[in-house]
Amino acid sequence: MSLPGILDRSLTDLSRALERREVSSEEVTLASLSRIEATDGRLHAFLRVAPERAVADARAADARRARGEARSRLDGIPIALKDIFLTRGLETTCGSRILEGFVPPFDATVVERLAAAGAVVLGKLNMDEFAMGSSNENSAFGPCRNPWDLERTPGGSSGGSAAAVAARQVFGALGTDTGGSIRQPASLCGVVGVKPTYGRVSRYGVVAFASSLDQVGPIARTVPDAATLLGAVAGHDPRDQTSSTLPVPDYLEGLEGGARGLRIGVPREWFQGGSEAGVERRVREALAAYEAMGATLVDVELPHAKYGVAAYYLVAPAEASSNLARYDGVRFGLRAPARTLGEMYGETRDRGFGAEPKRRIMLGTYALSAGYYDAYYLRAQKVRTLVRRDFDRAFERCDLVAGPVSPTVAFRLGEKVADPLQMYLADVFTISCNLAALPGLSVPAGLHPESGLPIGLQLVGRPFDEATMLRAARALEREMGPAPAPGAIG
Ligand code: GLN
Repeated sequence: MSLPGILDRSLTDLSRALERREVSSEEVTLASLSRIEATDGRLHAFLRVAPERAVADARAADARRARGEARSRLDGIPIALKDIFLTRGLETTCGSRILEGFVPPFDATVVERLAAAGAVVLGKLNMDEFAMGSSNENSAFGPCRNPWDLERTPGGSSGGSAAAVAARQVFGALGTDTGGSIRQPASLCGVVGVKPTYGRVSRYGVVAFASSLDQVGPIARTVPDAATLLGAVAGHDPRDQTSSTLPVPDYLEGLEGGARGLRIGVPREWFQGGSEAGVERRVREALAAYEAMGATLVDVELPHAKYGVAAYYLVAPAEASSNLARYDGVRFGLRAPARTLGEMYGETRDRGFGAEPKRRIMLGTYALSAGYYDAYYLRAQKVRTLVRRDFDRAFERCDLVAGPVSPTVAFRLGEKVADPLQMYLADVFTISCNLAALPGLSVPAGLHPESGLPIGLQLVGRPFDEATMLRAARALEREMGPAPAPGAIG
């Protein structure tokens, strides 16, 4: 059976089509797998495709539906997972040689929840090694490319997730965001990416990078799609001590409520010439659209935002150096042959880690060393408190904070690899949201006037108020019409 246009539909539309039996999960899963086969040689969004398993799961979903036992709106829908999520029986490398061959004995909580909802996992998506990066070029297995222009980066670290969704290979994906890794690639690929409040989604079974910042979230083509995925994975998990017990609202309820009456904070510091002219123009147009829809723009200040990148690059490497200590060749993945135990640790880590994790292990170990701890790590933690207070103060006067996601559109592969500092600056606008543990998202705000590449608007919400953030994003999405599909892969 041919299914013209089925892959162009949103997850929400596909869900309805499945419900009405216009299409089966098996048909759409096969269509997605063919799409991956036809495009991924050029795109490289996937590190691993699991076709047999996916087709079996799709058939099971069809059988459930035939019995009238569909599990949820996600039942039978093809999705994929960043390779940071542990998947039982399916190799998980986190983009690193050191985890090559590691087949997890259990599923991450979010993977369990998606399975319980009936979603069909097609495979594992490319990413920067251990989620460290903004361009996917730190993947040990070669970078993913941007489906809008194959010479450009899809962003990172969840670049494979954003590219796969934008390229119509899958209907949604999960990523993680420690300093911008969901929002930045979503922005650069023209899709929706949501980083929930810290504690909203379980981190159990998610390979740890910087544990006080890491958060799981959806990447999807539309806001309702993202809201559906978020609803499926959010909620308390006793296996993650930082998981919140607050109840999860129905994110689809009230989603169409519009922007009227919302107070949108516009931080001066995010509009001081730090972005490309074309980016700033689209972001300002989005703000004007909100005003036209009945929202009020409020000037706010985030005076400590300028220290965000510096503080992040102490806190994140410090936590990473500790989290990455477990990869020594004994229990997981790679083990280098050696004569002594010490040599095995050294050789394994030397061969297994790429340049960026090594750089961060050194930075982090230094920042945590006796004599330097107070000067670096502790000070960075204090800055973190100040960043959080800036937002607290802003939220006394507004409901959401808005600005750019990324200072530039997708840059060329190779453009920033030689200069880590330039790469780190890709996250100037996204990092404070992680430092402050707040929810943030990227929603398409149009294309760059010259290059025609996508630009995202960032919205940051109050703690655990994902609902307001999603409602505002949906209002803009409706105003702008359906986001265009990328043209570089046909
Ligand atoms: N680009 C940032 C970094 O390299 C953020 C990564 C992330 O959010 N995982 O650390």
